Amino acid sequence: MLKINKSSFNDFLSDVMRYNELVAPVKSDESRFETVRDISKIQLDLHTYFPAKKFFFKKDQTLYTYEKGKFKVPELQPEKKQRVMVGLKRCDLNSIKRQDMMFLQEIPDPYYKEERDRTILVGYHCTGPVDEFCFCSSMDLGDFYDLMLYDKDDAYLVEIGSERGRAFVDRYRKYFWDTDLFLRPEDRRIDTDLKLEPRDILPYYERVEWKKDVDRCFSCAACVTLCPSCFCFDMEDEVDAKLCKSDKKRNWASCQLTCFTKVAGGHVFRESRENRFKHRIYHQLQYFRETHGMNLCSGCGRCIRGCPTRINFVQTLNDMHGQDR
Ligand code: SF4
Ligand code: SF4
Repeated sequence: MLKINKSSFNDFLSDVMRYNELVAPVKSDESRFETVRDISKIQLDLHTYFPAKKFFFKKDQTLYTYEKGKFKVPELQPEKKQRVMVGLKRCDLNSIKRQDMMFLQEIPDPYYKEERDRTILVGYHCTGPVDEFCFCSSMDLGDFYDLMLYDKDDAYLVEIGSERGRAFVDRYRKYFWDTDLFLRPEDRRIDTDLKLEPRDILPYYERVEWKKDVDRCFSCAACVTLCPSCFCFDMEDEVDAKLCKSDKKRNWASCQLTCFTKVAGGHVFRESRENRFKHRIYHQLQYFRETHGMNLCSGCGRCIRGCPTRINFVQTLNDMHGQDR
């Protein structure tokens, strides 16, 4: 097993920052992953309000530009610095895995791939749930990281999860020490109070209990925006005022908005708020699993934490499940 002493961790990060883009959890107005300029601002154990997905799946990606009769595709930039992202939690990492499944399998998306290829994922294993909204312990999350750090007294124990992680450790070997310390099963566990109890949520789709949540939903889409796993996007043309140039953009989209399922002729597939509300939850916990063998949701709790009316769909599902037992 390897360890890195906390006393030398900032030196290590400074060294990393010299040649790489360093991204870490930072608390400013809100907590988010940011490119670090000042190491003292990093809070490794912070479970960020905003997810890290914008670094790979950009909010706004130009796919091509049309100008003066010619199409131009933005060039990839292979010379970009390597990026080291530290402080990703188990839920964040599992969500990146799910986004990889969407953007790298079958036909890989070149823009997403470029950002993933240049990024080393360094996790920080939570020592406990950050609040009452985390429910990752019930989501069957897997190991997905290049390196994982475990907080152990005056050091971080380091687990290597990939060849890329091993090469990274070799590059900064002077900071890593062999140790007799080892990880106990409980070091790898995160015991959340909230747990999703039903394994199969299909029987609950038509239940009236959803109504109390649906009635409090504004269709504001905060839940989708904050979700590290949600990957839906929309495409639109941005035309300049002189009508000479047009950018085809890919932007984040949300199944909570009526425009998401509006098609030619003006028909909206999920016109009712109830249908939109339930679609998000069933996509996260049912439809994705039917196709990909795992839940899309990683149990990070961001959609509950960030909901203006604190709608807790996990509790609603648990209540229905409890009544049926
Ligand atoms: S954040 Fe809450 S109120 Fe807004 S769309 Fe999602 S569930 Fe509805
Ligand atoms: S659905 Fe909610 S709890 Fe699940 S990954 Fe998305 S934000 Fe996190």
